Amino acid sequence: MSGQLLDGKALAKTIKTELAGEVIEFIENNSIVPKLAAVLVGEDPASDVYVRNKQRSCEQVGIESELHRLPAETTQEDLLNLIARLNKSVEVHGILVQLPLPKHIDSTKILDAIHPRKDVDAFHPENVGRLSQGRPRFLPCTPNGVMQILHRHNISASGKNVAIVGRSDIVGKPLAMLLSQKSSHLGADAANATVTLCHSRTADLAAVTRQADILVAAIGVAKFVKADMVKPGAAVIDVGINRTDDGLVGDVDFDAVREVAGHITPVPGGVGPLTVAMLMQNTLAAARLQVGCE
Ligand code: NDP
Repeated sequence: MSGQLLDGKALAKTIKTELAGEVIEFIENNSIVPKLAAVLVGEDPASDVYVRNKQRSCEQVGIESELHRLPAETTQEDLLNLIARLNKSVEVHGILVQLPLPKHIDSTKILDAIHPRKDVDAFHPENVGRLSQGRPRFLPCTPNGVMQILHRHNISASGKNVAIVGRSDIVGKPLAMLLSQKSSHLGADAANATVTLCHSRTADLAAVTRQADILVAAIGVAKFVKADMVKPGAAVIDVGINRTDDGLVGDVDFDAVREVAGHITPVPGGVGPLTVAMLMQNTLAAARLQVGCE
């Protein structure tokens, strides 16, 4: 028996169509077009693709975007000056700094400098703090994408055992917060999970993952999750994006795990498209915030 495929690409398209309607309404009511400023430093080819995808999505939903492409040798001071300018601009509602930044730049300093009301990636400590208290301003894009995939396929998290492998500030940690809170932006059914946050020092990882009704892999190691690590019937969400000689693959050994899982996301075409759709949602939310609609 093969697990049901959770098609993130199709879902992202649906969400972006919904969003495009909301953007039109926002523009009609406020005579302002939401705008995302993307900052790309250096020549990383993967970052280039990500930023291009984000700009294409902006176009699809009717959000304006501008790209600030800076050379790899840009100084931290110059980058901070650009962020300060974007923070002040009344035309820019969301600011996105594509990671990773060159090694000579302190990413934390840069991300902390983005105004919390324009922080559409939800990385600023103020926004992380609000999320941990259950009163988020912006929802972190990839974790929210995972929540959307589950919710829109009627996979309830409430009362379920969830194992998340990977405890990064971008994926694992905020997703654990969202899934374990009492309620959520998608209702109580999408929250109230019993979450185990796993990492490289988790003892007997497979024993933990085999207990999980929902297993999320956010590790960065190609095909790390094997079939014998998965509970039969579990929903398996693969966040990983790994570039290999065989092309893009996830953190889950897809073909083998699909035989055991009840539901599974592909890579590509799973969580990735949702991450971008959630960024669009946050940019519209930022524009609403700045014109005082929220
Ligand atoms: P990080 O490198 O920041 O974190 C990786 C996590 O995995 C760490 O917590 C690490 O543990 C854990 N880990 C690594 N090896 C093992 C192991 N052998 N056993 C158990 N845990 C392990 O990665 P990110 O969270 O930034 O990204 C994870 C993956 O998701 C990457 O492939 C990335 O490309 C992808 N990604 C995809 C997105 C999307 O939109 N689909 C968005 C963001 C990321 P420890 O903390 O102990 O080191």
